[in-house]
Amino acid sequence: MPAWGNIHPFVPIEQAEGYQIVLRELERDLTEITGFAGTSLQPNSGAQGEYAGLMTIRAYHESRGDIHRNICIIPASAHGTNPASAVMAGMKVVVTKTDDRGNIDMTDLQEKVEIHSDNLAALMVTYPSTHGVFESSIKKITQLIHDHGGQVYMDGANMNAQVGLTNPATIGADVCHLNLHKTFAIPHGGGGPGVGPICVAEQLVPFLPGNPVIKTGGEKAISAISGAPWGSSLVCLISYGYIKMLGATGLTNSTKIAILNANYIKDRLSGKFDVLYTGEKGRAAHEMIIDCRPFKEHGVEVTDIAKRLMDYGFHAPTVSFPVAGTLMIEPTESENLDELDRFCDAMIAIRAEIDRSSAGDTDNLLKNAPHTLHMVTNDSWEFPYSRREAAFPLPYVGENKFWPSVRRVDEAYGDRNLICTCTPIEEYMEA
Ligand SMILES: *Cc1c(COP(=O)(O)O)cnc(C)c1O
Repeated sequence: MPAWGNIHPFVPIEQAEGYQIVLRELERDLTEITGFAGTSLQPNSGAQGEYAGLMTIRAYHESRGDIHRNICIIPASAHGTNPASAVMAGMKVVVTKTDDRGNIDMTDLQEKVEIHSDNLAALMVTYPSTHGVFESSIKKITQLIHDHGGQVYMDGANMNAQVGLTNPATIGADVCHLNLHKTFAIPHGGGGPGVGPICVAEQLVPFLPGNPVIKTGGEKAISAISGAPWGSSLVCLISYGYIKMLGATGLTNSTKIAILNANYIKDRLSGKFDVLYTGEKGRAAHEMIIDCRPFKEHGVEVTDIAKRLMDYGFHAPTVSFPVAGTLMIEPTESENLDELDRFCDAMIAIRAEIDRSSAGDTDNLLKNAPHTLHMVTNDSWEFPYSRREAAFPLPYVGENKFWPSVRRVDEAYGDRNLICTCTPIEEYMEA
């Protein structure tokens, strides 16, 4: 709709009243969802939200004369953006350990907090953790930071496991970002645009980011975080619609179903794949990490499983993050039971294929995956398994076959090596 899509970010505000209503209501809804006191829609990504949030924390400390508070404690399990943002915000990163269960090591945290008590600026913590666990000592952790004069930044990328059930204010955080392109329905394929608003507690509201042209943010606003006063405002319409259409009950149901779906997969795969971390009650939050390292003894790597999933019609889940050699599965509330079952059937069938492989065997279903249409329809077929096993390993695949268009292209080689693909100048010469 041109009325939404063709408007300039710096149009005089009285000419964009509809946008003002939507943005203000979205801010109000996000503030309520997080349990906080104020929201800024300015940051364009989660990482930018982290930077914005840490800058408000810095401004808060400075306003109290605590200009020396510059230590930011971050658990080893954190997303890479966390330490990067802390450094950008002029802080010094101190890494705290995680224990065998993937939780923050309380003894180590206590020690670090005490050492840095005088200069503690903030803790950055992801809840539920990147390991897919609701850390049960979270309130003790936030209290400990407050007792030493620090503020708590909660990385809200996993809000899909909280909305309507709990919130960052409840666990004692002071500021969080939300990834509207993760939890609130903005599609984020291809790198953008995203929206990473920050929601903050009362004491940080005055410092929410401003804009030199159009007034936004708090009374003592930090400088602009991005070019436009409300960031990627166009895509905010999607999150606005998502929240309004679901309402409080629908949003809470989304959270419940996201958690239920993850635990359903976990249960169906149990005995076939090991889940690396679970909470004390043996449950996952909204995602889980499946350990593929033991399959090395069958000569199978996590990448082989990811590629083979394509033959079964699935885009692979996250590979080797946050732990190398693992798959992180996050079904969300979006998938129905049939789809979850198809995925589990595929994983279980792949497990059987793994058992049939052995170290040194480089010519099997897993190593040759994915199988393209070109391979399967070729006149010659020299693999030690049938075409059907390659391309239609389970009956459901035949009903809606997805054909991968290419096989493997050296995996991460291109990410690590600069390769010039320019055509030589002669090619441009007229014939
Ligand atoms: C995605 C993510 C981020 C970064 O968000 P972007 O929008 O990609 O910048 C930060 N922390 C965690 C835990 C995430 O999953």
